[in-house]
Amino acid sequence: MTRSEELFARAQKVIPGGVNSPVRAFKAVGGTPRFVERAEGCRFRDADGRWYIDYVGSWGPMIHGHAFPPVIEAIHKAATRGTSYGAPCEGEVELAERVIRLMPSIEKVRFVSSGTEATMSALRVARGFTGRRKVVKFEGCYHGHADLLLVSAGSGVATLGIPGSPGVPEGTVGDTIVVRYNDVAALEAVAEEHGADLAAVIVEPVVGNMGCVAPNPGYLEALRAITARVGSLLIFDEVMTGFRVARGGAQELYGIKPDLTCLGKIIGGGLPVGAYGGRADVMDCVAPVGPVYQAGTLSGNPLAMAAGCAALDALEADGFYERLEALSARLEAGLRRAAERASGPVTLQRVGSMITAFFGPGPIVDWPSAKACDTARFGRFFNAMLNRGIYLPPAQFEAAFVSIAHTEAEIDATVDAAAEAFATA
Ligand SMILES: *Cc1c(COP(=O)(O)O)cnc(C)c1O
Repeated sequence: MTRSEELFARAQKVIPGGVNSPVRAFKAVGGTPRFVERAEGCRFRDADGRWYIDYVGSWGPMIHGHAFPPVIEAIHKAATRGTSYGAPCEGEVELAERVIRLMPSIEKVRFVSSGTEATMSALRVARGFTGRRKVVKFEGCYHGHADLLLVSAGSGVATLGIPGSPGVPEGTVGDTIVVRYNDVAALEAVAEEHGADLAAVIVEPVVGNMGCVAPNPGYLEALRAITARVGSLLIFDEVMTGFRVARGGAQELYGIKPDLTCLGKIIGGGLPVGAYGGRADVMDCVAPVGPVYQAGTLSGNPLAMAAGCAALDALEADGFYERLEALSARLEAGLRRAAERASGPVTLQRVGSMITAFFGPGPIVDWPSAKACDTARFGRFFNAMLNRGIYLPPAQFEAAFVSIAHTEAEIDATVDAAAEAFATA
């Protein structure tokens, strides 16, 4: 028995499924999840002393690699001054100023402790601001596990084939309208029928949670135009894409200005941070300025704020995104060559440092085309890569992430492993 197997057996006795977030359990790919003992740069070591090249990066936050020294130092320094105050501190102002500088559509921002809280709160504010009830989300997009958004969701919900979730009352999702992604006509139809009741449209501007799916040319422009026309708010859920696909997120990459933006992952440098922000007139609905209530005991936590500031500061380094793009393009090109050895179709899709190998014919543009992929082939590929020391997201409907800590040597080793792994799938 390996140490990971031992720990997993113990974990399953005291934690549902042995994990604190479902996709970690490897249910979609089989085998035992690796218990991580330490992580450094683009690698982590499991409880059995084996090192892996990591393309999960804690599901997105680790754009600088693990144990990035400036972040660790910032946390250490902050910790010596106390770990939580429940009173305002300078770190909150520092991080807010950075976020607003990097994302000009955000005029005011509120920090929370997770992406889930960010999307949940943004929708509450959108409903409070507009006085409307209905919300549009897109099939296969994942916005965290808040009740009203847990319908036709991507990520682990998709992987486990859960249509929605027991425990989410029909009344809670009764005002959530699910529309196909990349389908302008479908949203037009909803706007026609429900426009006057529509508080917000929430979207992953580049989807990561059904695997990496880019918006069709003109699609985000259409979302912007339709929401403006019916007077509903456009919410970009950039919890994954923020500071990832470009320094200013997908909104910078595609030149679209949403009314509200949700952030998470990278913004906390690996500590639990989420944020929502946008137009000042909308954000001023939030208590204590306005009547929409939203609060958090640990919100604006000084350790998390310090980690976030250090992480964002490092993104400002000259050539950061150019280097990340070059590494990611090298990986894509290598995987494309390697995939020729696969037994069936493989569709590689990438936006910046987010990449997915779909085991099916492309292009993958929405949830029906993603869902049609062969998850059994993906599972064989995943395990073949794992056996060769390459750690990919353990499910087909997820994006892999390249970090700035990956080097050409590690990318090339990954491509070499993939040439063998694709041959098994
Ligand atoms: C990860 C993610 C969330 C949820 O964030 P948590 O911190 O896990 O609650 C929300 N939206 C998107 C797009 C995400 O990728």
